[in-house]
Amino acid sequence: MGEEKSYLAWMLDVLKRSVELGGFPEEVYHILSKPERVLAVSIPVRMDNGKLVVFEGYRVQHSSALGPYKGGVRFHPEVDLETDIALALGMTLKNSLSGLPYGGGKGAVKVDPTKLSPGELERVSRGYVRAIAPLIDDELDIPAPDVGTNPQIMIWMIDEYSKIRGRNVPGVFTGKPPELWGDPVRPYSTGYGVAVVAREIANRFLGGLEGLRVAIHGFGNVGSNAARFLSKFGAKIVAVSDLPGTLYNPNGLDVEKMIQLVQRAGGVKGLMEYSEPGTSKTASTEDALYADVDILVPASIENVININNAHKVKAKIIVEGANGPTTADAEKILYEKGTIIIPDILANAGGVIVSYLEWVENLQWFWWGEEETLKRLENIMINNVKRLLASYDKYSSSRGVKTYRETAFILAVERLYRAMKLRGWI
Ligand code: NAD
Repeated sequence: MGEEKSYLAWMLDVLKRSVELGGFPEEVYHILSKPERVLAVSIPVRMDNGKLVVFEGYRVQHSSALGPYKGGVRFHPEVDLETDIALALGMTLKNSLSGLPYGGGKGAVKVDPTKLSPGELERVSRGYVRAIAPLIDDELDIPAPDVGTNPQIMIWMIDEYSKIRGRNVPGVFTGKPPELWGDPVRPYSTGYGVAVVAREIANRFLGGLEGLRVAIHGFGNVGSNAARFLSKFGAKIVAVSDLPGTLYNPNGLDVEKMIQLVQRAGGVKGLMEYSEPGTSKTASTEDALYADVDILVPASIENVININNAHKVKAKIIVEGANGPTTADAEKILYEKGTIIIPDILANAGGVIVSYLEWVENLQWFWWGEEETLKRLENIMINNVKRLLASYDKYSSSRGVKTYRETAFILAVERLYRAMKLRGWI
């Protein structure tokens, strides 16, 4: 494995370049290159076997220039503070790009949730909230689900927070179950947004989505919902990889069947029970990345497309469902090949857009229904793609901008710059 820049170092490189290319004062970089506040916590939890385990956690509050901090909480055994800071910076940019009245934040607990009993998981979730409670509130910092967390965990967290405050505070976390304070679109919003972005990009560059071949890496919340809607929009999902292995079928995989198998098995191991004719299976966790497809959706974790494998990627278009799936070196290799990469801060913004809509519903204790949310989500995503494409055309000819990532960063920084200027920070 070659030595590559860390995710944070790479984000900061792109940020610095975008501040220069966009003609913003250097002070903008100085402010945005550091989080406003970082909280490290320890969470003592009594395990089912009677032993006490102390888990490590963080909450990073990156920027409040545009509003309350907003960003998910990740439960994963390999989280570290540096990655959490990079993810929080990504949230600041993502929220700005989509025009939301939010700053950026991110939280994490170093834990493998698949190794916990339901009771242990609940105790870790409540313990984390007790630890970060002094720094969150529905107009201060609003966490949400991310890798390893889900709507049930959000409700435990709100319940704990509400006990601390002595009143119900549904707006302090988003991504709740639709039956209790959530928005019905939130569970599938990120994947839906990814599919809308892929459709709009395919319309522009490949004459439409109908019949195009798509590969999905990571069949969790984002990957499975992106697959579901891409398939509904007319694309053919030919390859899916996750930790148990890869499924490949040149005639198209049946997405609903795969989702049912995963649900029935209580996890992605269910994918390996898929047995439709013409399907081949391998134990590889990455074959989908190299499939001969038009569109690749990486939807698992960071750094999966890197210096060691970027040359094997055949897709014409990569729509980043995950945060940070492509490393800096991989992006260079893909750029030389002419691969179009639609960056995470635009492509996977559907989740936080619907989190925002859910939060607005919570603050007014009024829910407007699935159709209205979906319409608003779709409008924002389509508008984001249009702005990205038009700005890329403008900046690549006038300012030497090379990638869609730089373009998206410039658009995000522009709004942050104006806010910071108005507030007198610069
Ligand atoms: P998830 O936990 O539901 O799904 C992730 C999937 O990736 C799992 O099925 C896991 O088994 C698989 N995976 C993990 N490591 C892998 C590897 N090395 N190879 C193959 N598969 C692997 O998480 P999610 O919510 O779908 O999030 C996926 C990505 O999307 C993350 O980067 C997350 O930050 C980002 N994201 C999520 C949301 C959201 O609303 N859930 C919003 C924006 C961005």
